Amino acid sequence: MDKKKVEMYRKRLLEKQEELLRLLSKTDHDGREADDEGTQDIADKAANAYTKEFLFHQSDDHRRMLQLVNEALERTRNGSYGLCVACNQEVQVKRLDAVPWARHCIECQEKQDQGLL
Ligand SMILES: [Zn+2]
Repeated sequence: MDKKKVEMYRKRLLEKQEELLRLLSKTDHDGREADDEGTQDIADKAANAYTKEFLFHQSDDHRRMLQLVNEALERTRNGSYGLCVACNQEVQVKRLDAVPWARHCIECQEKQDQGLL
C-alpha cells in the first residue's frame, strides 16, 4: 500500500485510539461514582449493580477494539498494514475505509465469523 494512504489510515487509527482511551477513562470514573453513591436501598443497589455490569461490558468492548487499533497501528509501522493477517492478500480498500483496524480481508472475515478460521 502506498505510504500516503497508510499515513491517512494511521491518522484515523490514532484518532480512534484517543477516543477509546477517553471512553475507557470515563467508564472507570463512572464505575467509581456508582460505588461512591453510598445507596442503602435494595432497589438502588440492584440498579447500581446493573450500571456497573453495563459499564463493565461496554469497557470490555472498548478494550478489545483498542487492542485491534493498537495492532493496526503496529502494522502501519512494520509495513504490513492493509494485508490480511490470515492470507496475506490486500484487504479491500472499502473495508479499510469502513474499519481501518480490520485484520482480515472480507473472505477471511467471513470464514472467521463462521468459525472456520
Ligand atoms: Zn484473507
